[in-house]
Amino acid sequence: MTSEDSTSEVVVRLDGVRKEYGDTVALDGVTLEITAGEAVAVMGPSGCGKSTLLNMVAGLDRPTAGSITVNGENLGELNETGLALFRRHRIGMIFQFFNLLDDLPALDNVALAAQLTGVRAGQARRRALELLEELGIADRRNVYPAALSGGERQRVAVARALMNRPALLLADEPTGALDSASGEQVMDLLLDLHQIGQTLLIVTHDPHLATRCASRVVEFADGRVAGERSLERSA
Ligand code: ADP
Ligand code: MG
Repeated sequence: MTSEDSTSEVVVRLDGVRKEYGDTVALDGVTLEITAGEAVAVMGPSGCGKSTLLNMVAGLDRPTAGSITVNGENLGELNETGLALFRRHRIGMIFQFFNLLDDLPALDNVALAAQLTGVRAGQARRRALELLEELGIADRRNVYPAALSGGERQRVAVARALMNRPALLLADEPTGALDSASGEQVMDLLLDLHQIGQTLLIVTHDPHLATRCASRVVEFADGRVAGERSLERSA
């Protein structure tokens, strides 16, 4: 049973989500709910469907069957333009390989996320600089991605993801391309974001990342939820 009150707290709801690529079943009936302020880590081996799941929640791809609701939007009811607007306004995304634009310096990579939603350049750049300051990399604002370290690139990517105050922050193996010290910094950052109330969905094959940053770990196997556990977290 759900009431109007309890559903208002739900940020992500997947119901029977299935995704086929030809003969491959990437997701095999996933039902999952994430409430506001949760940090959920979906963990499982390579090929079990984690990136597919994240791409569906981000509205980058559509399920073969089942429904996905994010922040009150039923993604199946949105056309391509609607999905693009949803992604720009409601979702922040962090990837293993950063996905920064090589021909823009750090500050512009971050500011662009807001400019794409119609925010004027000056205002976007001010907020971008604030975020880079909060993440401790304001001194690197004029540096191009090629000259940034992996850890710095990922912090720029986190700043970009936070630019539009997303209802949901998605992270796909966010430490997968980092050395362990930079990886720890990014984990600290994700944990800080969780502790200030950001709703997070992280997918990873790394148990350390999952237990370090998440309030709940969902075990994934062969495109299905195979188990889950809540983590006690003392600040
Ligand atoms: P994970 O992120 O857990 O490593 P993926 O979601 O990337 O897993 O992949 C799940 C399965 O779906 C794999 O068998 C993969 O080969 C397949 N798959 C993923 N994306 C595509 C695609 N665009 N086309 C065809 N098969 C795909
Ligand atoms: Mg993956």
